Amino acid sequence: MSQQFCDVALPVPLDTTFTYKVDGAPVVAGGRVIVPFREKRLQGIVLRLHDEAPGERVKLKSIIAALDSTPVLDEGLLALGAWISRYYLAPLGEVYRCMLPLGAEFKQVIAYSITERGTEALYQSAAVGSSKRSHLGPERQMAEYAVLDYLAEGELVREATLRSATGATREILRNLTAKKWIAREDLSSARDARRTIKIACLKEPEPSPRPAQEQRLSGTPSPSQHASDGACREPSAGKLNPNQQKIIAHLRAAEGRLSVEELRQLSVPKTTLGTLVRRGIVEILEEPAASAVPAMQPRNTVDFLFTPEQQQALERMNQSVEARQFQAILLHGVTGSGKTAVYLAAMRQVLNSGRGSILLVPEIGLTPRVAADLYGIFGEEVAILHSSLSDDERAEQWHRLSRGEARIAVGTRSAVFAPVKDLALIIVDEEQDHSYKQDETPRYHARDIAAVRAKQLQATVVFGSATPSLESYHNAISGKYALLRLPDRVQHRPLPEVELIDMREEFQAAGKERLLSRKLIEEVTLRLERGEQSMILLNRRGYSAFVMCRACGDIIQCRDCAIALTHHKREHKLLCHYCGYQQAIPRLCPKCGSDYVQFLGTGSEKLEDMLHAAFPTARIGRMDRDTVRGHHDFERILNAFGAGELDLLVGTQMIAKGHDVHGVTLVGVVGADTALSLPDFRAAERTFQLLTQVEGRAGRGSSPGKVVLQTYFPEHYAVQFAAHHDFEGFYEKELRFRGWMHYPPFTSVANVIVRSDQQELALRYSGILGKWFEGERHEGVRVMGPAAAPIIRLKREYRYHFLLKSASRERLNSLLRVMLRHAQEQHVPRSNLVVDVDAISLL
Ligand SMILES: [Zn+2]
Ligand SMILES: [Zn+2]
Repeated sequence: MSQQFCDVALPVPLDTTFTYKVDGAPVVAGGRVIVPFREKRLQGIVLRLHDEAPGERVKLKSIIAALDSTPVLDEGLLALGAWISRYYLAPLGEVYRCMLPLGAEFKQVIAYSITERGTEALYQSAAVGSSKRSHLGPERQMAEYAVLDYLAEGELVREATLRSATGATREILRNLTAKKWIAREDLSSARDARRTIKIACLKEPEPSPRPAQEQRLSGTPSPSQHASDGACREPSAGKLNPNQQKIIAHLRAAEGRLSVEELRQLSVPKTTLGTLVRRGIVEILEEPAASAVPAMQPRNTVDFLFTPEQQQALERMNQSVEARQFQAILLHGVTGSGKTAVYLAAMRQVLNSGRGSILLVPEIGLTPRVAADLYGIFGEEVAILHSSLSDDERAEQWHRLSRGEARIAVGTRSAVFAPVKDLALIIVDEEQDHSYKQDETPRYHARDIAAVRAKQLQATVVFGSATPSLESYHNAISGKYALLRLPDRVQHRPLPEVELIDMREEFQAAGKERLLSRKLIEEVTLRLERGEQSMILLNRRGYSAFVMCRACGDIIQCRDCAIALTHHKREHKLLCHYCGYQQAIPRLCPKCGSDYVQFLGTGSEKLEDMLHAAFPTARIGRMDRDTVRGHHDFERILNAFGAGELDLLVGTQMIAKGHDVHGVTLVGVVGADTALSLPDFRAAERTFQLLTQVEGRAGRGSSPGKVVLQTYFPEHYAVQFAAHHDFEGFYEKELRFRGWMHYPPFTSVANVIVRSDQQELALRYSGILGKWFEGERHEGVRVMGPAAAPIIRLKREYRYHFLLKSASRERLNSLLRVMLRHAQEQHVPRSNLVVDVDAISLL
């Protein structure tokens, strides 16, 4: 007996689920459905089926379509989503939407065709002309006839096409439909996620030729058409025109099969193929497109020469997987110690035992070359999920995993939700990387989700890093995680020597501000003479950091944010690095009209220019978000650098991320400590991590490396410990500091941002919450605020915030829940509140 109702989680900012009537549709829990919701149709996930009729008065709507006959989210992933929803206080439907990369599989497609009545009306109007009287205005009438005229041939035309061709508004289409002059049709349906291609196939001609009949080339083929093997046979020669013969000849040469796409290259009229199909000489089959995965045979073994430490780490990971019990491992390996090789070997081992694994990598790390390497090692067993895939490609990779065709998923943040079968191992590489935290709802941290998912499945999770986060390191030394160390670089290569340059002394010696110290210039010169390579880090994009009027002191700010605009010289504009707003460079001060407009501060673009001036013969490349628009740019610059086509590479933190260029013997650090002055308790940790990562780029080949570290804070412990490669020293000191200040990992934090594009509203809402926090008992939770957020205006919104700290996650969470309820009662819209649990950035 099938159930009558289903509860659906919808991607709307409401903390509730919705009940719909099933009406016999083949609905499954964990499957997707399309439902009507406030004038819209939404895709949601079915949570459960039941027969509990809601009250008599409630009029339930029915679901429009069921998209899946088997669950797309299994019980484990449904439960994981529910956990995320509770922990991060995010609406369940929004969590599920973010877990599934399948949005592209459903699009509402409306199409129109002319009716008999419409055809009649069209002919009448042609006969009578425009003199026909009508209650409609002439313009409106013209618009209606334009639509009828466009549809006159009787085809079914999609709404988007029809509207762009005729300029008709929705209202005109609605009127025509109401008059029954045109018919509206809903072509929406769940598409098969596998992309298909059309194959033209030579056919045995029928004994007596079929009469020409209208046969659509597109549309869903019948199942029998899929059975293409042996279906392609030779046609007997008939009366064929030269174009037709050309197509036949090409098909013959290709053993009777060619994609329609390839035939289009032949420069014969498009109708030719259609004619051949109608005459029954050629048939068109629709087949799954060759997958994005190149057909490669996986190597049977991963042949790495391991150091004893690597071997030990691998064995420990293998044991843990085989034990089939939850285990978290922190793999702390210095830069260049060969962590990746250990990951790959462990994943190979898991695959050999018939189980699955996930490797998470930071946003920038997944270049095409890395992907090619992974395919080389794992062949079609690997599915790669990264941001440059199209929606369709992403969906295809997802389905390959869910069907068990691929058992390894590699990807950025959201790959933590990959539907890998029999998941035994999750590895989070560069676990400290901030791209693992999503900065929109749901604001989950993939590293933490990896641990939750592994626990759920009795699997092993490995966090790898040269500079682990304080949180993970604390878990390791307190025994919650196992700690594995790779203390040495491969082949006993030494860590680079670091020389600190006190830029205050440089200033005194030169009598003016200098960007490049004498020492750094000397060392770069030496590298150029020896034919070795250098990298220089300046963690700021653009040419000049800000533009100031000397007459009135005004700094030019973004129109929509309380942020100084950065001067980008090559593109001749001022740019906001937070929202992307740009404007022309003013000649006069926009405030007082004086022409004393000055460009101050230095970014990577200016540094590149300065290096060109200092080293005119050097070949210099730059890597930052202005020169790298995607993975391909990233790889192109790295390849050029790796191939020795560049002597010097300057850039932002992008150059510090785990790549391996053996010719680099010098790393210069120019202004990487500015973060130390930011109002953020993670500033020291971030600086230490960045410095350590960039130092790690030096001396990875046979020649030893050197780092010249310029700083204005030479005594700061983050700088000192980074200069001495002293990880434990840094962690010890930083942990003590965090303990005193009641910061993570000793407490949990949540940042509550109240935002509105109207300042009065933002203030009023934060006042409501502030009063409530004051009056409410909230034992064990410290509430700071309301205060203006460090960036008080961002993307047009004014922002005030509360910072909540508690030693008990549970208390923190329940207080936030009650706060949200209170906000709702006080009519503070949910969309004006951001609750960021375990906030990474407090700006
Ligand atoms: Zn001015
Ligand atoms: Zn802005």
